[in-house]
Amino acid sequence: MKKILFAFAIFFTSILFAQSTYIHCGKLIDTNNGKVLKEMTVVVSGSKITAVKKGFIQATSDQDKTINLKNKTVLPGLIDMHVHIEGEYDAHSYTNRFRLADADVAFKSTVFAKRTLLAGFTTVRDLGGSGVNISLRNAINKGTVIGPRIYTAGKAIATTGGHADPTNGVRKELRGNPGPKEGVINSPADARKAVRQRYKNGADVIKITATGGVLSVAKDGSGPQFTMEELKAIIKTANDYGMITAAHAHGAEGMKRAVLAGITTIEHGTLMTDEIMGLMKEKDTYYVPTITAGKYVAEKAAIKGFYPALVVPKALAIGPKIQKTFGEAYKKGVPIAFGTDAGVFPHGENGKEFGYMVEAGMPPMKAILSATSVNAKVLKNNAIGSIEEGKLADIIATDDDPTKNIHTLEKVSFVMKGGVVYKD
Ligand SMILES: [Zn+2]
Repeated sequence: MKKILFAFAIFFTSILFAQSTYIHCGKLIDTNNGKVLKEMTVVVSGSKITAVKKGFIQATSDQDKTINLKNKTVLPGLIDMHVHIEGEYDAHSYTNRFRLADADVAFKSTVFAKRTLLAGFTTVRDLGGSGVNISLRNAINKGTVIGPRIYTAGKAIATTGGHADPTNGVRKELRGNPGPKEGVINSPADARKAVRQRYKNGADVIKITATGGVLSVAKDGSGPQFTMEELKAIIKTANDYGMITAAHAHGAEGMKRAVLAGITTIEHGTLMTDEIMGLMKEKDTYYVPTITAGKYVAEKAAIKGFYPALVVPKALAIGPKIQKTFGEAYKKGVPIAFGTDAGVFPHGENGKEFGYMVEAGMPPMKAILSATSVNAKVLKNNAIGSIEEGKLADIIATDDDPTKNIHTLEKVSFVMKGGVVYKD
């Protein structure tokens, strides 16, 4: 009896694993070596890549499927290190928090998640929302909702009155006294509690607002907002729980403190000095530029009433500077990780960042690596970021060769995530 059951088990598992998909790729980008390979076949079984071979290999069994991408360029699913998947800024954003329930935010977030995935971004790092982002990640992992793999910060950590204090700009009676639980800290002890609370809530990464920000209803957009002791407490505690850390930073002082305290990535980096660039190289701190968001806020600030009056001068001053800073940082050899700040601009337009990076002087292949193999390394996930045997089958394709026409990444024509085709 045992023998028969064993035979049946073998029979059924062989059926389960027999079906493979053969993807014929006209061109394939090798993101480990920065090379474009011609006429390749990628074999996918279940959620993983089981082989990458030269030439167009034919399927061996009737169960197998073939996908013809012979006139496309195939590359690993893209990774965006900076999105806000829960929302999208518009003229109502500042009053929405008084109107929308978590369920309203959640329903909308499913639309943004799907749009992001269909744009070719199979993994994103979500750098702050209300906490709905954690439930969204779980629903995507369970297969209930369509979207990218999400690494989320939950709610970002700020200081009182700082960028991401959730009660900024609200009348006195409604302000309350937000603390570590809500992501507002004022001491190293608060800092540790806020990180541990996020760990408990299910966050994967920690986001802090090291300086003032453009879109918060507060006067200052660039001064430092944490003490060195607070930064060290946050980063040390996050590292204890295996979480990487990200610092929103426009001004130099707050940025420098975050780098010295050991932050993993600097976001925006607008007023980055030569000294900070040197420190980042030395400490292997990654710069996530978000040029697209900078350009978008500067453009929208010119429309009367789009942002509150306090926001307009900050958006006009800071927004346009990011691309230039990025160009200088790249030339100086600062490690670059691709990230856009989607949510500040419409989700799904993340691919525009590539064009801006290239415009600022980065070679197209380098920009592609920053959104694939480099970001996988920063996220410490070696199952993504390249197309090779054993990795997750996160595979996309473009009509043109993006090393020759970078803008083709703004409109990807094929998306597979974990072996499932979402766009063909
Ligand atoms: Zn952001």
